[in-house]
Order: sequence, then C-alpha cells, then structure tokens
Amino acid sequence: MANEDQFKKVISHAKEYGYVFQSSEIYDGLSAVYDYAQNGAELKKNIRDYWWKAMVQMNENIVGIDTAIFMHPTTWKASGHVDAFSDPLIDNKDSKKRYRADVLVEDYCAKIENKIEKEVKKATKRFGDAFNKEEFLSTNGRVVGYQEKINTILKRLGQSLEKEDLADVKALIEELEIADPLTGSRNWTDVKQFNLMFGTKLGASAESAMDLYLRPETAQGIFVNFLNVQKTGRMKIPFGIAQTGKAFRNEIVARQFIFRMREFEQMEMQFFIKPGTQKEWFEHWKATRMKWHLSLGMENDNYRFHDHEKLAHYADAATDIEFKFPFGFKELEGIHSRTDFDLKQHEEFSGKKLQYFDHEDNASYTPYVLETSIGLDRMFLAVFSNALKDETLEDGSVRTVLKLPAVLAPTKAAVLPLVKKDGLPEIARQIIGDLKWDFNVIYDEKDAVGRRYRRQDAAGTPFCITVDHKTLEDNTVTIRHRDTMEQQRVKIEDLKDIIKKEVDVKHWLQKME
Ligand code: ATP
Repeated sequence: MANEDQFKKVISHAKEYGYVFQSSEIYDGLSAVYDYAQNGAELKKNIRDYWWKAMVQMNENIVGIDTAIFMHPTTWKASGHVDAFSDPLIDNKDSKKRYRADVLVEDYCAKIENKIEKEVKKATKRFGDAFNKEEFLSTNGRVVGYQEKINTILKRLGQSLEKEDLADVKALIEELEIADPLTGSRNWTDVKQFNLMFGTKLGASAESAMDLYLRPETAQGIFVNFLNVQKTGRMKIPFGIAQTGKAFRNEIVARQFIFRMREFEQMEMQFFIKPGTQKEWFEHWKATRMKWHLSLGMENDNYRFHDHEKLAHYADAATDIEFKFPFGFKELEGIHSRTDFDLKQHEEFSGKKLQYFDHEDNASYTPYVLETSIGLDRMFLAVFSNALKDETLEDGSVRTVLKLPAVLAPTKAAVLPLVKKDGLPEIARQIIGDLKWDFNVIYDEKDAVGRRYRRQDAAGTPFCITVDHKTLEDNTVTIRHRDTMEQQRVKIEDLKDIIKKEVDVKHWLQKME
C-alpha cells in the first residue's frame, strides 16, 4: 500500500475503532486539535504508564512531579521562549497556504533520500546476500552524489537559520525551485519568524490582568522546582525529575493528524549532573531511551538517531530518535544536553540561587542537565500506525489486525459466549467478573464468533476467550491469540496467569536490561 494510503487508513481506523476523534467534530472540527476516544484514552494512558514505570519507578534516583500549565510569565523570558521560540514561516501568494520554510527544505531533502533508498533496494535485489549496504552507500557514485547534495542543502539551511538570515532561506527555496506541495506554485512571500507560544490573560479586570502563556514545554516546570525537589527529596546528584503533561504550541503547519498538534502531551525528564560529565550521560540516555523503544518489539529498522547540526541556544549536544511513520522518518523523541543554561537563566531572572552543594567535593555548583523529551501523542501514532496491518490469510481472505504490543493494548481480553443461551452468557459474565480486577476486559455476544474475532483483531485486543458447550462439562474455554490466531483449550482458573504473562509490564520492561 502506498504510504499516503496507509496513513489515510490509520486515520480512519483510529476513528472507526474509537481511538481518536477530531475535536468538536459536530462543528466541523478545530484544526490540529484531537480528542482521544474510549480506546485511545486507554492506549495513551498505558503508554504514559509504560514510560513512567521505566523512568520513575525503575530508577531510585528519578522522581516524578506534576506542575501547573500556567507559570509566572518571567519563566518564559528566562528560558528564551519569548525571544527565540519561533519558526520561520513562508506564505504562498497564490494558494494563500502557510508553510514552515525549514520544513519545505527538509521535505525536499527527504525526497532525495527516498531516491537513495530506491537505489539501495535495487542493489539489494541485484547483489543478494553479497550486498554490503555500508560499502554501497559510501562508494556508489549516484548515491554519494545524492548524499552530498542533501548535506550541502541542510548545512546551508542550518547556517542561515543560525545567523537569522531569513533572506537566504528564501533564496535557498527559490534556488531549489521548491513549489507549494498542494498547488505547484512558486510564488512565495519573504520568510518571517513566528512565535509559537499561546498568550492568555490572568485576572478579572482588563487593567490588572497579567499576560500569561500556555506552557510550550513541560521542562520549565521542572527547572523552577529543581531546588524544592532536591531539598525535600534529599536528592543527590546525579538525579532526575520527570513529568508528563500538556504543552501548547501555535504550530504554523499542523496537517499530520496527531503528529503535530497545537495542544499535545509531553513526557520529559531532566537529569541533573555534575558539570563535565555531560558527554557520558548523553551517551547513557541515548542508549537507555533507545532500549525503551526497542523493548516494545516494534522492529529495530523503524528507528534511527539523527544528531543535530544546528543546536538550540541552550544545548551543547542533541540527537533525535526518529521513527518511521507512514510519511517517513520523523522525530519521535529528543535527547538534549542542555548545559547549565536553564538553571543559570532562572537564577539571573529570579535573583534566587539554584545551586547544589556537593558534600563529596565540599563545593557548590550549578548542575548541568541532560533532557529526554518525548511526545506522548507522537508515540501513540508510532505505536498505532506500526500496529495496523492487512494480512492475507491462507484462504485468501484479508484480515485487518491492530497488532498493538499487548502491554499497551486498551482491552486485554474479550469474553465471548459462543451462543446467547444455554447458560453460556452467565459463565462469560462470571469470567469477566473475575478478570476485571486485573485487566480491562469486555463482553461481546453479538454476531457469529468469527466476526467477533475479526472485530477484536481490528480493535487490537490481544486475547479472545470463548465459552462454549464443553465449558459446561469441564470448566475449560478456548483462548485465541490475536497475532497468531492460535487457539488453546485452557482451564478457566488458568486464564489470569496466561494473560498476565503476556501483558505484564515486567515481562516487557525487563527486555531493557
Ligand atoms: P519538531 O521539530 O517536530 O517541531 P521539536 O524539536 O520542536 O519538534 P521538542 O521541542 O524537542 O520538539 O519537543 C519534544 C517532543 O515533543 C518532540 O520530540 C515531539 O515528540 C513532541 N512534540 C513537539 N511538538 C509537538 C506537536 N506540535 N505535536 C505533538 N508532539 C509534539
């Protein structure tokens, strides 16, 4: 299936099976704002829990907090967001569509990268087992040429943005003859900077109202509480503070479903370290976060690191973990070595000392910070889009199945009486009554059992438990596994252990070790 069709399928499946709805749909929706539906809310919660357990519960030296969305407005002066949290925007004069200038250039490069991938595919076919990808990438004339072109373009883009030379960004777009992807027009305005923070007001009367921002990231809530947590938790460096919560950005272009929203959720952790140790901790968190992703079993080839050429004003090293979304490799998580920038800025703007006294060294210092920052909604999209498959079965029929990692699936098991009589529904209800203390389970008696299996496959439920006439004789049921469609006859009393083995967080997170 073409990528675009696959993405459309992801969006419609998310709606049809109660995962994601357009916000305010009855009023024709609100652009780039989405609601999580009954299954989506569960999946999102399970992803959040999976992250929280890995980061907070499993690490003695990391604690979790939950800070307010509203913060004192000086926070955003200190953090640099008032002056520098903006994206370069460009309008097309004919279509009146607005774009991020840097994204237009990056998409242009992604097209060249697709050409490289095509060459690799062709060569893999031609050379078979003897194919050496690394060697091919570094010696094939055409591929090397493509890669050089990408490097030159991205370097120039990086330098122009760094120097705030927006005229050169426009010149680059013109030189590359980049056209409006929707209309093909090359009639562009100049490039301008656009601040992404949403402003709002606090206070009843117009005169006394205070200008506030909706937080564009959760990190600053952690920085301003650094000393409170360190002191009350008696934390010793190195230690981390984690939190999950909403963030808001007035994104210029937000057309990729829940990939880029104006209201979204982040899961961030700031790790406070001794100055000079940032390189090792950067490598440590890069590796640890990648292991977390891989523990979910979503195929190694779907992930890659992308080190930043252009560093944000606060960073001395940064990398993205990119995931292969239906529209290509894109940032899923950022890992940033933020130096002491944030704490120093807050010290300066608040006039309060934000230092740590190191008993071993008998000295005070401003800690350095290593940040891991992942978008919960992007992770949702990664998990959901990767899970959605159309499988052709032996009899030639096609089944749509949502192969969510069992630990994240909203409903762990559906209990199905084979028929609606003979006491089978009552037994199914008893099974539900017992299992619901440990798992989300549902009852389904409508339609033939085959159709019910397909419905649960498409909804992502890992197990179907069927109660039939044999159950009346020997207290056994069949349990069907979503991914293999295998069915086993098991005792009702064993159900809990069988399900637990596959959905238990421990079973999954232990893969990180
Ligand atoms: P991008 O380059 O895609 O705009 P970013 O580099 O600005 O992202 P960060 O500021 O590093 O993103 O934010 C950390 C994480 O928050 C990102 O890796 C992403 O998963 C998530 N995120 C950022 N902006 C959005 C958004 N508008 N909608 C959904 N998730 C987002």
